[in-house]
Amino acid sequence: MSIAENIAQVRANIAAAAGAAGRKPEDILLVGASKMNDAAACREAIAAGIDALGENRVQEMTGKLAESAYDGAPLHFIGHLQRNKVKQVVGKAELIQSVGSLELLEEIEKTAARLEMVQDVLLEVNIGEEAAKSGFFPEMIFSGAQAALERSHIRVLGLMTIPPAGVDREDNLRYFDKVRALFIDMNEKLFHNDLRHLSMGMSGDYEDAIRAGATMVRVGTAIFGSRHYT
Ligand SMILES: *Cc1c(COP(=O)(O)O)cnc(C)c1O
Repeated sequence: MSIAENIAQVRANIAAAAGAAGRKPEDILLVGASKMNDAAACREAIAAGIDALGENRVQEMTGKLAESAYDGAPLHFIGHLQRNKVKQVVGKAELIQSVGSLELLEEIEKTAARLEMVQDVLLEVNIGEEAAKSGFFPEMIFSGAQAALERSHIRVLGLMTIPPAGVDREDNLRYFDKVRALFIDMNEKLFHNDLRHLSMGMSGDYEDAIRAGATMVRVGTAIFGSRHYT
């Protein structure tokens, strides 16, 4: 199957999941998670109408930017971002989906201020409260949002999450539901219901995420095929 055929299949699945949930497919953005796929694969996905591409390694993103791999689609940063690499991402990625600490917010603010721009971000929720993962724990997400609201060079568009790996489908759904509840609460209390995006769901669970209210799914394997780590 080609990348274009895979995208068509994923779009059909998104439409079915949206329909089953009484939602409109056009309200769900398809972000291609293009890590470990080359510039040619990115261009193929863009030609096939992907809504955005998401990278999670700064070095790889920088290399592919130099090859104009993302021309024609918005670029998102979706991976763990170290503070010392913020300069390479702010102003390059239209949306940084993975902002999971006050320190990172601070660094993005400083960099965006220097560039005299406003950086769009999602706040990442560490919904499983996993020590090895980044992201705000649920009880910290309001203070994270508050801190972001006080920074004039950062605009929060919503939340992003990656539930713990290896849980069964029901538990996974429970995590999605919890994040959705946080999103609704935070949106109402802090953002006048202006938040647009709830980014959750990957190749194995994007249809469930859509049923649980995702507005953005990040799909890699189901579009680009399996990744080969060496
Ligand atoms: C790789 C990646 C994805 C996509 O994962 P697949 O299971 O290949 O669809 C989604 N989100 C993030 C943050 C990723 O790093």
